Amino acid sequence: MSESVPTPEAGAAAPGATEFEFKAQVQQLLSLVVHSLYTNREVFLRELVSNASDALDKARLLELTESDVAERAGEPCIRIAIDKQNHTISIEDNGIGMTRDEVILNLGTIAHSGTAEFLKKYAEAMKKGETEAASLIGQFGVGFYAAFMVASRVDVHTRSLRKDAEAILWRSSGEGTFTVVPGDRETPGTRIVLHVKDDASEFLEDWRLDGVIKKYSDFVMFPIELDGKVANRSSALWRLPKAKVSAEEHAEFFKHLTGGELGATPLLTLHYAAEAPVQFHALIYVPEKATPDLFLLRKERPGLRLYAKRVLIMESCELLTASYLRFVRGVVDSEDLSLNVSRELLQEDRTAKQIEQQVTRQVLKALRELADEDAERYGKLWKAFGVVLKEGVASDWKNKDALVALCRFESLKRKPGELVSLKQYLEERAAGQEAIYYITGPAREQLVESPHLEVFQKRGLDVLLLTDPIDEWLVKSVSEFDKVPLRSAAHGDLELGSDEPARDAGQKDALEAAAKAVAAALGDKVAEVRLSKRLTETASCLVSREGDPGAHFERIMKMLDETAAQKKRVLELNPDHPFVKNLATLVARDPQASHIALWAEMLYDQALLSEGVVPEPRKLVKRIEDLLVEVSRARVGS
Ligand code: ADP
Repeated sequence: MSESVPTPEAGAAAPGATEFEFKAQVQQLLSLVVHSLYTNREVFLRELVSNASDALDKARLLELTESDVAERAGEPCIRIAIDKQNHTISIEDNGIGMTRDEVILNLGTIAHSGTAEFLKKYAEAMKKGETEAASLIGQFGVGFYAAFMVASRVDVHTRSLRKDAEAILWRSSGEGTFTVVPGDRETPGTRIVLHVKDDASEFLEDWRLDGVIKKYSDFVMFPIELDGKVANRSSALWRLPKAKVSAEEHAEFFKHLTGGELGATPLLTLHYAAEAPVQFHALIYVPEKATPDLFLLRKERPGLRLYAKRVLIMESCELLTASYLRFVRGVVDSEDLSLNVSRELLQEDRTAKQIEQQVTRQVLKALRELADEDAERYGKLWKAFGVVLKEGVASDWKNKDALVALCRFESLKRKPGELVSLKQYLEERAAGQEAIYYITGPAREQLVESPHLEVFQKRGLDVLLLTDPIDEWLVKSVSEFDKVPLRSAAHGDLELGSDEPARDAGQKDALEAAAKAVAAALGDKVAEVRLSKRLTETASCLVSREGDPGAHFERIMKMLDETAAQKKRVLELNPDHPFVKNLATLVARDPQASHIALWAEMLYDQALLSEGVVPEPRKLVKRIEDLLVEVSRARVGS
């Protein structure tokens, strides 16, 4: 029957042609599927059932939204039949079917959406070994072509649900070409017949297929009949009363939704029905871990699966949760949404907005309950998603209080990894402590060593250690908690109550004069030089002026934009440090002495060094060398 028409380019076949070449990428995929992937072949059924289920969803939507559709035979259903005599398995659905053009396009000339990525990952995995590569097919799914893992020939009998569509038969043995001829299917839908390879005859057993269906397709919404009996549960779990769904069922459904990618069980399950102002059912899971794309700024971030009146509208709808909840997975099913709502329409849709607001509030409430009841589990969640939740503090003013209450931080007085809430911080604060203190920086190890915290260490005051870049935005949007202000330990002229040693007026004047001399030597490198109330050990440190962005923030901005401006800071000198005292004596003797400028530079460089920054290493080395020469000369006594 095949008048073989070689195609100049895949998909560009002459009208009436019956034989076509697979697109190059599809051919690549097929040769992998046919020749090298032998583990986990059972996933072929998952892929074909999933396509059948999609076809039933599309049919339902088409019937409800358009008029030129043909009559379907019977209730939506997926039928699987084994023919042992002829060594075939058939998978049939009464879904949307395909027209001739669609068959040619879908099954051969355009590649499955994830193919390019799959091939790339596969090539990478092959470098590590064949078994690694083989396991990829199970995780990724190669769609329809998975049929060729178990079949030496595949026949697709299909007829589109569009009125007056003709029946089509697609056939291929997966070896470079496929044929398309008129078929004899009478009703809309698709039947896929697999001519099972000899070494795959295990799949001709009922019990074997039954197991595979239960394993992968239990939650497919349509009944899957295997030789006349329904093999899956085919119910909308989210519409059942909460008490009717067991933890095991949730775990199964969670795996079904996430492809097993996010662990075996969810960390948190929310299952509820809302009545007003919008009616909807929601089944939402907070996973234990994040997908790697958590921080990729994609237009279509992951979202919830959206059904309207039990009809699947969108596999992943990001409009149903606040962006900072993009780690949750689940289903929303509403009676109040129209079936022909598109993503564009949804963006403007009031009902969708109301659902989003409610879902967001409910998730935040559930997180709060978990935080109150089980700090350890909550800590786990915070470690996985805290950074994302913090985005919410800066962006969602309506839920800001709820989000701030969910925040957890490391702190000076706690061991690494231990977390504290603002509420707890306040409960533990010292008598007379009038602020919640924090410090921002790149890493805990560096912050705890910071000279800015010396006085806090000495007095046993706790300081929140903020090391996520987003924390800079967080503290800018939370100026107080429970009416207590948040204050940076690296900003302003710290007032922690008087604990200053008594100094006579002469001493004081000398120290002030030393600060002036240092200021004169540094010129416009600094905004000001003053005597410190925060240093107890180190000679000098740099602090930002109240209201200025802060050095860590500015360094982050500088990474993003080389030309970003940096504010001058205040150099603080420790009046109790022997070096600063000696400096005061020397300045009193001779304010013009030549080493004063060199020592002022050293005080400034040291302050930066303790923040992990060396702006001009060559100059610093030169200064240290000059000092070493001077000191050694004094020792030698020349
Ligand atoms: P994907 O499902 O990811 O698009 P597949 O290779 O599995 O990739 O299928 C390609 C396309 O073929 C589908 O998008 C769909 O349009 C069509 N198709 C596959 N199976 C069926 C079916 N049973 N009924 C109708 N169309 C189908």
